[in-house]
Amino acid sequence: MKRLYLVGLGPGDAAMMTAEACAALDDSAAVAGYPLYLDLLGDRIAGKERLTTPMRGELERCRMALAKADEGTTTAMVCSGDAGIYGMAGLVLELASEWPEVQIVSVPGITAAISGAAVLGAPLMNDFAVISLSDLLTPWPMIERRLEGVGLADLVVALYNPSSHKRKDHLSRACDILLKHRGPGCVCGLVRNIGRDGRASEILSLAELRDTEVDMFTTVFIGNSQTVELGGRMVTRRGYAHD
Ligand code: SAH
Repeated sequence: MKRLYLVGLGPGDAAMMTAEACAALDDSAAVAGYPLYLDLLGDRIAGKERLTTPMRGELERCRMALAKADEGTTTAMVCSGDAGIYGMAGLVLELASEWPEVQIVSVPGITAAISGAAVLGAPLMNDFAVISLSDLLTPWPMIERRLEGVGLADLVVALYNPSSHKRKDHLSRACDILLKHRGPGCVCGLVRNIGRDGRASEILSLAELRDTEVDMFTTVFIGNSQTVELGGRMVTRRGYAHD
């Protein structure tokens, strides 16, 4: 059986990988992924063949993994968080028809919205959206339209890819759109390096967030009209009646 696993590793900490993800790695003789994630796996993939390409080599990485699996080497394509959320799963499935004998098995992982929410408190208690501020593959006007929709619908939003070297102002532009719908005191949160060395988190207002610089290892949470700060935790009230 020719097999390629699409494995979500969770945020980074081995304790946040699922048992199914561990089993898929154990079953694989080759592991494909961005070098940082292969390094995070450490001894768990010792002795396995590594298939790496630089950050922007996604297409080549997917083709390499499919071709390796087609040779008969069980292969795992690993992504941080979940492979189907801004990861490689979709591209692999788009290319898969070129390698019809390869069976593709998806293994879900804990995405940054979930692991980050647990660090901050319970910001995702009610309906929420996830938006990436990266305009490498999605045009910026489309991202703005989606942010407008989030504002109108009073959704809590988790923002992925909030910054990069080239795009320092995307977060402040996103905050400006949400400030049209929410007050400057709207409760927001940042989580950096979830499950990795250097983990840090902060709860701050939307006005403060607008003027905060973040990096690409950060996930940003913007609360809605029901989000409050309780004892240093970000909590979205769901409407339970209590005193
Ligand atoms: N597939 C990943 C997302 C990849 S997009 C997932 O499901 O989590 C990359 C973005 O994810 C980063 O810019 C950041 O916003 C978020 N992210 C991924 N891992 C993170 C971590 N360990 N800590 C904080 N944010 C993280």
